[in-house]
Amino acid sequence: MPSQAVSAVVIHKAHDVRCEPYVMQWNEDEEVLLKVERGGICGSDIHYYLHGRAGMSVLKTPMILGHELIGVIEQAPQHSGLYPGQRVAVNPSRACNVCALCLAGKQNLCRSMRFMGSAQFHPHVNGGFAQYIALNPQQCVPCQSDADSKKLVFAEPLAVCIHAIRQAGDLVGKRVLVTGAGPIGCLAIAAALASGAADVFATDISERCRSLALQMGATSASDPRDEEQFQRWSENGGYFDVCFEASGAVAAVTSVVNFTRPGGTIVQLGMGSASVDYPIGSLLVKEITLKGSFRFTEEFTTAVKWLEQQRIDPSPLLSAEVHMEDVTRAFEMASDKERYAKIQILF
Ligand SMILES: [Zn+2]
Ligand SMILES: [Zn+2]
Repeated sequence: MPSQAVSAVVIHKAHDVRCEPYVMQWNEDEEVLLKVERGGICGSDIHYYLHGRAGMSVLKTPMILGHELIGVIEQAPQHSGLYPGQRVAVNPSRACNVCALCLAGKQNLCRSMRFMGSAQFHPHVNGGFAQYIALNPQQCVPCQSDADSKKLVFAEPLAVCIHAIRQAGDLVGKRVLVTGAGPIGCLAIAAALASGAADVFATDISERCRSLALQMGATSASDPRDEEQFQRWSENGGYFDVCFEASGAVAAVTSVVNFTRPGGTIVQLGMGSASVDYPIGSLLVKEITLKGSFRFTEEFTTAVKWLEQQRIDPSPLLSAEVHMEDVTRAFEMASDKERYAKIQILF
């Protein structure tokens, strides 16, 4: 098996991320060798950086971060349909493809999913923040050669949002609320509009995030602490047909139940660690459908297409590009949600 010394972004523990040498190996008969161009820092990467864990996945040994990636193929196995020089977006999912969930098309729920840059299993699954990475051919989604890689690297978070919209069902003509206007909330706003929603409202406690929500097409963006707004949206059983809860904040999780009309749907998209005193009475008497939404399946390819066709323009969400050598600065910026949205790393 060939091996190659590369530089990679490795998280050692909370607040300790380094750009350091790493010897990668790849199986040239089965795997694609990809030269990584750029990667987006995701919320889960930030969690590993700040807390040494993301949700229930706790970092035990050093791990290469990163799962939002775009690159150019250096070498591809024969008969893979891929060729050197081809630009691809990386689907970070590696489901087992044999379990009952995978066979039912729910690969995102696969219990053996080896998602890139995740400490869920030990040994951890390395991510793709490195100069070169090895991938299964199925993980490579070809893009137009002149496609804008700054935009295409949003394919992964956009896929998360398109999956959430699928969870909600038909949005045509619907009145939608998105709580939390970070990168995921903002992409959910744009994806809901692209899916036919009539109006998409947003809430966020940060003024900067509210302004991004408006740039991504929200009809209005308000502070969730606005009591009058709370009253208006709660009247007559609730104002919204569909709510996407993208903050994970306790106050948002409990208030969207009031804002959703009888028979409406709530999709939980934000990952929160806190437990919630939940208003089950309202959920019950209004027959609200509450659905979780986790990662994505074939929505990844849809996301690449939507970005190529400029059906969605994620550009307002890109706050800065930082070279991998400066990775600590990149993570400090990405953690400062008051000032920055998406930070991209260049390799
Ligand atoms: Zn992500
Ligand atoms: Zn499976």
